[in-house]
Amino acid sequence: MIVLGIETSCDETAAAVVARGADGRGTILSNVVLSQDGHAVYGGVVPEIAARGHVEALDDVIGEALAEAGVRLADLDGIAATAGPGLIGGVLVGLTTAKALALAAAKPLVAVNHLEAHALTARLTDGIDFPYLLLLVSGGHTQIVRVDGLGDYVRIGTTIDDALGEAFDKTAKLLGLGYPGGPALERMAAGGDPRRIALPRPLTGRAEPDFSFSGLKTAVRLEAERLAPLDDGAVADLAAGFQAAVCDVVADRVGRALALFAAARPGVPPVLVVAGGVAANKAIAARLREACTARGARLVVPPGVLCTDNGAMVAWAGAEHLAAGHRDGFDFAARARWPLDGRAAPMVGHGR
Ligand code: ATP
Ligand code: MG
Ligand code: FE
Repeated sequence: MIVLGIETSCDETAAAVVARGADGRGTILSNVVLSQDGHAVYGGVVPEIAARGHVEALDDVIGEALAEAGVRLADLDGIAATAGPGLIGGVLVGLTTAKALALAAAKPLVAVNHLEAHALTARLTDGIDFPYLLLLVSGGHTQIVRVDGLGDYVRIGTTIDDALGEAFDKTAKLLGLGYPGGPALERMAAGGDPRRIALPRPLTGRAEPDFSFSGLKTAVRLEAERLAPLDDGAVADLAAGFQAAVCDVVADRVGRALALFAAARPGVPPVLVVAGGVAANKAIAARLREACTARGARLVVPPGVLCTDNGAMVAWAGAEHLAAGHRDGFDFAARARWPLDGRAAPMVGHGR
């Protein structure tokens, strides 16, 4: 089965072609990702600029994905597109394009939940079986989900305020490090002393594996004001302190989630899958590895280009649904909000 996937929910214009064998294993035939560069001057993604960017680039990106894979529309077994959650203008561009292609080529359409696509990526890259735990840490989302099966997701933890990537971006901004802030803050932290400035570890020790980052960000701001004017050493120490606090929080929350997983699924070898741009952070990755080792869990970190937004994960989620006999109607509406937890968002009226 060969599926085209389209992703336009944020600032990546992406398309990919993925093959799924009868054995359920996946192969990426092409994966084209165009990261829009017009947002940096605004210090964040501007929805209207993103949507226009998708309109301008998507046809070429899809054409490139098909050409690189060496397939024509007629060769496809289905067309999948992110239908939410995300910036609605961008989602509309991708979903409408997918509908037009599916209609013109008489192919089945799958409207994919972007979070589900992140959740299923490790089955494409590492062929892992259900159930497993997903830690999604991106610019827009921070949650821990138990992935019990296709369409069967239980969110066991979430942020009660900022997403982790957002916290990195806002903290980097207040330290004058530019956008996107995650990579810049990580570089700065490498030269700093994480113990010089005491910062909080919000929600650590709590029974529920939830997250909170706004208080930590505010604590950094107050310390920055106290130490102003900041020299490079102080910025590095604040960055290092922030990242160390984040590492402690993530390790604690993931440890808690693994304990809950073990209690809910006794005897199942625990697996933790990581997705989202923050997974690129080396310090966090190292702490996740420690937390998993301590609890006898396997850690699966897909390659960076598949952890951030891409078309291959959307094509793969589409392939999994098509293989299960699912398809969506052309009346499927784009959704700005679409929680992954099936119980929170019954997929009524869409043939699932
Ligand atoms: P979403 O996928 O939730 O819609 P998004 O597109 O903003 O949101 P991603 O593209 O997956 O998310 O990731 C981008 C985020 O990851 C940004 O917030 C960025 O700062 C963060 N990030 C990237 N690299 C690092 C790093 N090395 N350390 C920390 N954060 C990072
Ligand atoms: Mg992005
Ligand atoms: Fe994403």
